[in-house]
Amino acid sequence: MEFHGVNQNKYIRMSSNMRIEKTCEYCNQLYIAKMTTTRYCSHDCNRKHYKQLQREKKVQHVTNKRIQSIQSDSIPSSPIEKPFLSMKETGKLIGVHERTVIKLIKDKKLPCCRIGRRVIISNESLKSFIESKKA
Ligand SMILES: [Zn+2]
Repeated sequence: MEFHGVNQNKYIRMSSNMRIEKTCEYCNQLYIAKMTTTRYCSHDCNRKHYKQLQREKKVQHVTNKRIQSIQSDSIPSSPIEKPFLSMKETGKLIGVHERTVIKLIKDKKLPCCRIGRRVIISNESLKSFIESKKA
């Protein structure tokens, strides 16, 4: 009984004295780890690395969002190839607001077609409008 108990104590002492040489994932310094799961030389490095990763994640997220918004802002499938354009598409194509396009139509500067409540601008009208604006 007694012998067994001593052995057990020895075992516990050995495991708690276990030393593993590891490299800190944050500062790359060699350190002695008490557990195989330890990834950092100190709690401070753990915290700093975690924060760094969070920041990188955030930056990546923002960058992705920016790329997405650029893509959605771009004109879908080259409207100049279409025979007709909506006022919104016309505005995007010539780089003005939709309201400006509406005003141009009202002022009869930009010929349009009305189909029901829809107003469309033919490619030809837009092209000749742009031609007439040539400086
Ligand atoms: Zn460290």
